[in-house]
Amino acid sequence: MRLVILGPPGAGKGTQSARLRDKYKIPQLSTGDMLRAAVQAATPIGLKAKAVMDSGRLVPDDTVVGIVADRISEPDAKAGFILDGFPRTVKQAEALAEMLRAKNMDLDAVIELKVDEEALLARIEQRARETVAGGGSVRADDNAEAFMARLDAYRAQTAPVSAYYAEKGALKTVDGMAPIDAVSAAIDDALRPTWAHKVGAFLRRLASRLCG
Ligand code: AMP
Repeated sequence: MRLVILGPPGAGKGTQSARLRDKYKIPQLSTGDMLRAAVQAATPIGLKAKAVMDSGRLVPDDTVVGIVADRISEPDAKAGFILDGFPRTVKQAEALAEMLRAKNMDLDAVIELKVDEEALLARIEQRARETVAGGGSVRADDNAEAFMARLDAYRAQTAPVSAYYAEKGALKTVDGMAPIDAVSAAIDDALRPTWAHKVGAFLRRLASRLCG
């Protein structure tokens, strides 16, 4: 299973990706987590990305595409993966399509979590409060100003990615404002193969058996 989870910051991509990781036993590849690890380890990529990330803007496409290309070539991603936070631009989506084509692979689905943007700010502020109350530290980009910048980047650069996948017939949209379990159930429904898919897969198997 190869999946992409799309949605604005605070939509619950991380939560749903983690659940899908456990369900399908495939790695959750969060470019945000990978970049934060690079910042933490003060690698050359991390040192360059830190200020951009803190401000809520997007790291350059080439940097992120390189990280993802390396990561999906690792053995644990062979059986599949969930991309969380990537692609964030149409350029990244095109680069991903190229990477997968080179490996004779394709995405199974792209799930988009649709959310009410006004409610998002309240959600992200609550997340920050809960983290602090639990003794944790809040991400540098989890404040109202950086959040608005992340939302702007989403509207300008990532919203067109949904249109890109919709045009290819791969996009499945789910209401991300519902309770977590209801969102999970809606994603499961969206991933359930339709009869048309099952019949198509059966015919392909039959044809390859007859011809092979
Ligand atoms: P996230 O944890 O997914 O919200 O990502 C945190 C920050 O990392 C973003 O605001 C960006 O600065 C950077 N980032 C993560 N993924 C990408 C990506 N695919 N393209 C560009 N920048 C990214």
